[in-house]
Formats: sequence, C-alpha cells, structure tokens
Amino acid sequence: MELIRVWSELDIAEIKEHIVMADDKFGHCPNCKKIGIDLKDLKKCPSCGREFKYITSKEASGGKIDIVARLKKKLPDLAFVDYSDYERLTGKRKAEDLFSV
Ligand SMILES: [Zn+2]
Repeated sequence: MELIRVWSELDIAEIKEHIVMADDKFGHCPNCKKIGIDLKDLKKCPSCGREFKYITSKEASGGKIDIVARLKKKLPDLAFVDYSDYERLTGKRKAEDLFSV
C-alpha cells in the first residue's frame, strides 16, 4: 500500500476532540496534557479516557513521509492529519473565538 495525501472536508472541532499528537515513540494528549503515552495499540488516552481517531506529528511537517509511515504502521486505525493544516485551522479557530466573545 502507498501513502497518499487525500484532502477531505472534516469538522475541525471533531478532530480537536479526538486527536493525539505524537513523535516517533510517544503520544501526547492535548486534552489532559499527558505526555509519554505508549503508542502501541493506542485507542484512547490512558489518563483522561479521550477516544483517539486522529493523529498528527510535528515531525511530519513539511511532508516528511517516514514518520507518517511509522506511525501508520503502529496505529493503522487512526487517520493522519497534516500538522500544518491542523495548526492553521486551530489557529484560525482561536482567532474566530476571540472575535466572537
Ligand atoms: Zn488525556
């Protein structure tokens, strides 16, 4: 199988609710800020119980495919979200939230 980037229309709020940040070895839960989560068979946060459906990694920014491939192998059920897309949309969302207050 090949890794191909496919653009989809997704709800950023839903992604934010179910995303785990990861590096090569460990995960980081943005909800409870738990770090050092073992990635093997990871389905939910061992600390706060958040269900993970999406994963992203800062190390994959700029289209570095090696880490994406390694994380996909460890966690085939999670959808890999492009880090720069995630940052761009959550940043934009933050700005909108500020203005809507
Ligand atoms: Zn958590």
